Amino acid sequence: MSRFFSEKYIDLEPYVPGELPKNKREIKLNTNENPYPPLQEVTDAVAEESRKLNLYSDPDSLELRRALADNLEVPEDHLIVTNGSDEILNFAFMAFCDDHIPAVFPDVTYGFYPVFAQINQLPYREIPLKDDLTIDINKFFQVAGTLFIANPNAPTGIALKKSEIEQILQNNTYNVVVVDEAYVDFGAESCLPLVEAYDNLLVTRTFSKSRSLAGARLGVGIAQPELIADLNAVRNSTNPYNVNRLTAAAGIACLKHDDYNMENCRKIIETRSWSERALKDLGFEMTTSRTNFLFARHPDISGDELYKRLKDRGILIRHFKGQRICDYNRITIGTPEQMEKLVEAIKEILEEKA
Ligand code: PMP
Repeated sequence: MSRFFSEKYIDLEPYVPGELPKNKREIKLNTNENPYPPLQEVTDAVAEESRKLNLYSDPDSLELRRALADNLEVPEDHLIVTNGSDEILNFAFMAFCDDHIPAVFPDVTYGFYPVFAQINQLPYREIPLKDDLTIDINKFFQVAGTLFIANPNAPTGIALKKSEIEQILQNNTYNVVVVDEAYVDFGAESCLPLVEAYDNLLVTRTFSKSRSLAGARLGVGIAQPELIADLNAVRNSTNPYNVNRLTAAAGIACLKHDDYNMENCRKIIETRSWSERALKDLGFEMTTSRTNFLFARHPDISGDELYKRLKDRGILIRHFKGQRICDYNRITIGTPEQMEKLVEAIKEILEEKA
């Protein structure tokens, strides 16, 4: 830290992204990316758009929002697009929290939430999950703050039903409820149909997981126009060109071929079931995942040791040090071949330990 770094950030603990492989042969199962690359139609559209890089992108992202409105079946004025969903989440912290309105979220959830609170100097409160890592929705009623709920939750992978989210909304009419649906396409129930009925609901989505565009950085917020206007005020005061030309072109082309994305989700769900069974056969316990990752622990090897020994063999998974979850690892669902290699490697590691 330099002697010039603002004192207000003295206690900041920045978010730590998953590590990048040191060589190309490593299997990367640590950041919940989609193992299937974007279609050539998408990369062609990006190449074509690159000819116009001398011009700023459309600050209203009109064409992209039109494509999204069609895809999600919501009106265009209910949509905002951002540089990854991390950006819309940050905007929500900025727009809807202050000294008197804390951010409120589960004690085990997406690790960026406390960081967004800290960087914006906002108070926050964590509500403990139950021992089985599920959410007790009753504890999320009348929270007197802005609620952030990842559904499905990360890194647990567990999903709430739409009816449970609706109960949370009904019991939080005086505050905004942000439902982060980064992983919803892998088998969870979306609460998008609730947007029209609840003026306090903001749903966030991403192209990083189910739509194979993590590297493009494209996020979406869906809410009634008044909430969207607040978020646009923050966006236009931060970076009105937050979605660049290449990303917008990728997003539009990607939505034109959405059946490819949905087919990939189906494949990933199938590989998830196979991986779940294979890991259970090896003695793992895990939560019920509605995402593109598994959250698993083994009685005979610590989460940290398994992570390190897999890394030695060129397989990256994600280990978190948090007290309640340090026994677990989060394992992204890759291709069937990658998951077979993972299971083989774990089998060997467990045999070596026996
Ligand atoms: N929400 C959750 C729950 C996540 O796990 C992630 C990915 N790390 C994000 C949001 C942000 O994803 P992105 O910025 O790539 O859209």
